Amino acid sequence: MADLILFNGKLWTQDARYPDATAVAIQAGRIVAVAGDAEIQALAGPGTQTIDLGGRRVLPGLTDAHFHFQGWAMARRNLALAGLPSLQAVQEALGRAVQAAPAGSSQWIKGQGWNETDWPQPRLLTRHDLDAVAPDHPVILWRSDLHLATVNTLALRLAGITAETPDPPAGVIDRDAAGQPTGVLRDQAIERVDAALPQPGTAEIDAAMRDAIAEAHRLGLTGVHDFRIGDAAESRGAFQTWQRLHAAGDLRLRVWMMFDGALLDEAIALGLRSGFGDDRLRIGGAKYFADGSLGARTAWMLAPYSDGGSGLPVVPMAALASAIQRGAAAGLPVGVHAIGDRAIRELLDVFSEVLPNVARSETGHSNELTGHSVANHSPFTNSPIHHSPFPLPHRIEHVQHSHPDDLRRLGSLGLVASVQPIHLVDDMALVERAIGERGRWAYAFRTMLDSGAVLALGSDCPVASPNPFWGIHAAVTRQRRDGTPAGGWYPEERLSVAEAVAGYTLGPAHASGQLGRLGSISPGKLADLVVLDRDIFAVPPAAIADIQPVLTIFAGSIVYSNGTLL
Ligand SMILES: [Zn+2]
Repeated sequence: MADLILFNGKLWTQDARYPDATAVAIQAGRIVAVAGDAEIQALAGPGTQTIDLGGRRVLPGLTDAHFHFQGWAMARRNLALAGLPSLQAVQEALGRAVQAAPAGSSQWIKGQGWNETDWPQPRLLTRHDLDAVAPDHPVILWRSDLHLATVNTLALRLAGITAETPDPPAGVIDRDAAGQPTGVLRDQAIERVDAALPQPGTAEIDAAMRDAIAEAHRLGLTGVHDFRIGDAAESRGAFQTWQRLHAAGDLRLRVWMMFDGALLDEAIALGLRSGFGDDRLRIGGAKYFADGSLGARTAWMLAPYSDGGSGLPVVPMAALASAIQRGAAAGLPVGVHAIGDRAIRELLDVFSEVLPNVARSETGHSNELTGHSVANHSPFTNSPIHHSPFPLPHRIEHVQHSHPDDLRRLGSLGLVASVQPIHLVDDMALVERAIGERGRWAYAFRTMLDSGAVLALGSDCPVASPNPFWGIHAAVTRQRRDGTPAGGWYPEERLSVAEAVAGYTLGPAHASGQLGRLGSISPGKLADLVVLDRDIFAVPPAAIADIQPVLTIFAGSIVYSNGTLL
């Protein structure tokens, strides 16, 4: 007997066997049947909850394939600066926070999300801008890309950064003409301030995580591929947090945990393999950085930026090659952050060298689609996690600015392109300024897909909003939510709605070797679904950004309802 039946809907099953299904039956957290209303309603018993969807569209639960969950959960408690239209607006927001904060220099004010790209005068914040409104509290304001932060004079002092402090190996302390720090810190230089920040306790972290999981459900997300912004210590802390929530019965999210690359050898020593865990929390693979970001001009480019410099690698490519090889041999794939076209080319060269026998499975698709899956039993659910005949796919994170020759290599190497369409909304003006016409190959999702690469879409939240409908809107329109630029930015790189939805469902399932249990509305798969207020396939593309979930179902339980149906 079914626990839950949804009927009179329009199911986007992504399962060719059920193109016109209107109803689904769920039992013990899994989908047990997908069909028409009459056939499914026959499965109802006295204890079955039935919900009339009123013709609404149902998608498989959405997974964001690049998320910094704990960073977001904690950042939601910080000053939100995203979307502020000017430097003055940031100062005003900071001023209000100063007034609300207790006096005394121990009280840090943390904010994030500012982005000067669309300001009337697009220049970076400096410590002087912050000192003008916050002279007596230490302040750190992260830029939206999190690769750059501005701190005030007091924060510099508390972090021990002076004119004499050398730049760290992979970061920059910006200095003025007199050699004094400007307050702008890039990449590793931010870590000195991080170290001076008071650390939250576990109760505070767990409360923030519970709130953030509820917010994810409100947005239609039932899974995340969780990445680390920071170092090995942050990896450990985040993993412990997930485990605490799971033990408390509060982990209502499918989490695929990418750990800091610095821990690869420990993971190998322990014998961990990708996929270990259960249906809520699994070990993914190791995260590395090849370069920085465009905003900080630390993305490693083939040709110089319009304003000089061409970025730099974060680690020697030979070190990455060795890590990729060791990880692959141990069953631990890597996800490598690569933004600039030089970083992407060098990384593809590394993959070509160290993975000579990788699946030239032309489409890049694995297991189910090639029929070579092998079962591997999870210790908790005793149900198979499917692995491709080769180790799980490696992934490149962001793949932002690529040379067209290199984009075509993605698919042939069997790589997953883990991309964030919503960034193009924030970045198009910045791209125009930084690299001019080479922007044609920025966020080139259509070319990637046509190369045979599997796209896994995400937000890089808290770098951008986690709203998946904003992400799908950006991929489909290549416009800002105000409709600019008319016709879309390099519209030849647009995705269809179906391709973008697949990028939030099948793509992440493929990237995590879980096509056998996630990604489609199919009998036997885990019962994660989202019911929409409007049909994403019928509304004009501009309206996709306004779509709201009506119901979110995780493991067969209703974890969010906006009140329309229940
Ligand atoms: Zn990220």
